[in-house]
Amino acid sequence: MIREIQTEDITENIKEMCIEANYHLSPDMEMALNKAENEEKSGLGRQILGQLRENLQIAGDDMIPICQDTGMAVVFLEIGQDVHFTGGNLEDAVNEGVRRGYQEGFLRKSVVGDPLIRENTKDNTPAVIHARIVDGDRVRITVAPKGFGSENMSRVFMLKPAEGEEGVKAAVMTAVKDAGPNACPPVVVGVGIGGTFEKCAIMAKEALLRPVGVHSDIPYIKEMEEELLEKLNCLGIGPGGLGGTTTALAVNINTYPTHIAGLPVAVNICCHVNRHVVRVV
Ligand code: SF4
Repeated sequence: MIREIQTEDITENIKEMCIEANYHLSPDMEMALNKAENEEKSGLGRQILGQLRENLQIAGDDMIPICQDTGMAVVFLEIGQDVHFTGGNLEDAVNEGVRRGYQEGFLRKSVVGDPLIRENTKDNTPAVIHARIVDGDRVRITVAPKGFGSENMSRVFMLKPAEGEEGVKAAVMTAVKDAGPNACPPVVVGVGIGGTFEKCAIMAKEALLRPVGVHSDIPYIKEMEEELLEKLNCLGIGPGGLGGTTTALAVNINTYPTHIAGLPVAVNICCHVNRHVVRVV
């Protein structure tokens, strides 16, 4: 049976989710930062992680953003094929939610309307929207405001198939090493392997949404996640890029079938402010 959803409901949810994501980090990220503070070997590194913990506490208590860079709003919609939207255009509804969230939540407006003319749109719109049709009569919304310190350090590598697993690992190591302090470490590393040029990039972004500590259910990919995390934490970049044993909190890898002639790999780096909120309406 078809279920009707008013687009105004989508707008209101997205408004609240933009504010929530910017004021409170998800429990898995908080836990990962606390664990890192206990395990970090460098004194200065522990001090930086302690300051990040304090910053999170203040943001939550005082209802202010965790970071001044409140991100570009990335919105994932998994739309049940038995849903019928009423009351207006869905994309407009999403953007209206972002507009209200960033205005009412006093979040920094970080979006320019034309990438070269660069005039601020003054309401943080448009969002980047990824929609997928799934079974059911619900809509699963994920709002992930993305900071650009770390987005700027993300990379796509079009590897040759013969480069295989070692080539993928080298690509991840290169991206994080080159990012150094610019990605505001400790980082979460989202990796997409396979698909096409754009598919691997979207998979890498989706990988950032997976809770820290939850691994791929493909055994050899899980092993690769663990191995890469260990190796990244030997790079010495450390919290805030000031040295230490906590450069990354997690490496999350998603995969997809690809063409016989290619091996696309995307590395989407997210800073310690890895924000995402999920709701089902
Ligand atoms: S990359 Fe992350 S921590 Fe760094 S300024 Fe942007 S949002 Fe803040």
